[in-house]
Amino acid sequence: MEMTVLGCWAPYPRAGGACSGYLIRGGGVTLLLDAGNGSFSRLQGIMDFRELSAVVITHYHTDHCADLFCLRHAIKGARRDGSRKEPLTLYAPGEPRDDFERLAGSGGDFRVRFIEELPLTDGIRRTEMGGLGLEFWSNRHSLPAYGVAVTGGGRRLVYAGDTGRFPELARFWAGATLLLCEASGFARDEEQIGSVHLTARQAGELAEESQAARLVLTHFWPEYEPEALRAEAAAVCRCPVLAAREGDTYRC
Ligand SMILES: [Zn+2]
Repeated sequence: MEMTVLGCWAPYPRAGGACSGYLIRGGGVTLLLDAGNGSFSRLQGIMDFRELSAVVITHYHTDHCADLFCLRHAIKGARRDGSRKEPLTLYAPGEPRDDFERLAGSGGDFRVRFIEELPLTDGIRRTEMGGLGLEFWSNRHSLPAYGVAVTGGGRRLVYAGDTGRFPELARFWAGATLLLCEASGFARDEEQIGSVHLTARQAGELAEESQAARLVLTHFWPEYEPEALRAEAAAVCRCPVLAAREGDTYRC
């Protein structure tokens, strides 16, 4: 399994950059994890969008879902000209339900699967796609939002999504061979953003607590230097820490 960073900025991109979007490939499945603004353009530089197996949207903030609107037009066109037959499966939170249903609406270009409708065990909802497993848990954010794990071949990619810190996170993240975690600010920003986001230092602390094998930081405020955020996380955890770079691919 491997993960390519399409966009790493939030809530707006640097010049020429993109917001949250990650391409996961493995187990015969190609999965787009979040579709922030700019990510769909990047995706097309790497692959034919017609070959996507599914899209997962962690929450309805534009830096995580704006390009879903572009993607829907692309899928609609491909189905019209016959270059893709199947609708695209979309895993999304049940809130705001109307917006996601409207997206799927005319023509059914998306086959929407609401995450809340997947079976729940110990706080985790699970499903399978080809050779990959998908796990979802509720995050602490300013609207319904999920963290995601993608599993396959004995590997576990954990994508933290957007979340404030809460006690169960370390359990949800346990066993990550790659932890992709937001570093939305420095420790000095915690008072301002800490109820709904993680700082770089918290990402490092949680990587240590959940015993992640490797930490890749992302979701950077565009005015901050990713390397400085990386250093703050690396100071509090023992595993290797990297700052996500757009276009780079990481083996999970
Ligand atoms: Zn958000």
